[in-house]
Amino acid sequence: MFKKVLFIWCFTGLVIPAFSWGFFAHKMINRLAVFTLPEDLLLFYKNNIEYLTEHAVDPDKRRYNDEEEACRHYVDLDHYECCAPIDTVPKAWKDAVAKYSEDTLKAYGIVPWHIALMKFKLTEAFKAKDKDLILKLSADIGHYIADAHVPLHSTKNYNGQLTNQNGIHGFWESRLPELFSRNYDFFTGKATYINNIQLAAWAASEGAFAAKDSVLLFEAELNKKMGADRKYTFEQKGQKQVKVYSFEYSLAYHNMLGNQVERKMRESIAAVGSIWFSAWVDAGQPDLNELTEKPVKLSDEERKKAIMEERLLLEQKQMKGREE
Ligand SMILES: [Zn+2]
Repeated sequence: MFKKVLFIWCFTGLVIPAFSWGFFAHKMINRLAVFTLPEDLLLFYKNNIEYLTEHAVDPDKRRYNDEEEACRHYVDLDHYECCAPIDTVPKAWKDAVAKYSEDTLKAYGIVPWHIALMKFKLTEAFKAKDKDLILKLSADIGHYIADAHVPLHSTKNYNGQLTNQNGIHGFWESRLPELFSRNYDFFTGKATYINNIQLAAWAASEGAFAAKDSVLLFEAELNKKMGADRKYTFEQKGQKQVKVYSFEYSLAYHNMLGNQVERKMRESIAAVGSIWFSAWVDAGQPDLNELTEKPVKLSDEERKKAIMEERLLLEQKQMKGREE
């Protein structure tokens, strides 16, 4: 059940955890999702943006000490079917348990089912106007939704370990966004109401599954073309020299993938905002003014500007964190 905990890439003593979108991308996704929200929710979330950013990675941290946690971050759809669309796996948890057993589902990951459960809990927290719980569940669900969009979270070959591509997990979801997300367009428009969370969560996982072949095949092709010499380089991180994918190799891979990483980050941001918003609507649109101070209104232009500023802020924080 805890199988994905240790696909880590070590060199000269430094361990890089590669659980899901890197910490940087998870924080960015939760942070920027705030700016998709309508005015009724915007101020509450904006006032708590630091919490939502910092706690975007709590679910990954929990994997160290909670056995139940690991399977909530992925679903190995190739255990059930060879290719998309996934039409033999029941989308409802009860039906899936009846068909495969709970143990089997947990062994191969439960992310789309878990998102539906979390959204239910978030709706209840809104009904209760429980500020702490709303924030905790919002940060958590943002993490799971983002994970569901990652292609390598949909396959047994999650770190390329079955195809001699070890390290590709962190390459795609940490190294590439860290190097190239500065040029991504993160303005996704406003959050929209999602009628059926279960289907939306499944659509994210299926979309990830449909993209995982290119993630693996393109890297294999590039590896053949560029060879090991140009694949890695060393970077100074704190006191240590760390082996990383070279800029040249990363750029070539990023170009081969087209806008895939950007698209998955954008989809994640839009989905996180939309699920927060939908939970609030389903809770009867409680007035959060008593949990906040004054209303905020942003035009599209102002939202775009705020997104740019927030992104820079997070990058600066990230740089500072590295120097320490
Ligand atoms: Zn995760």
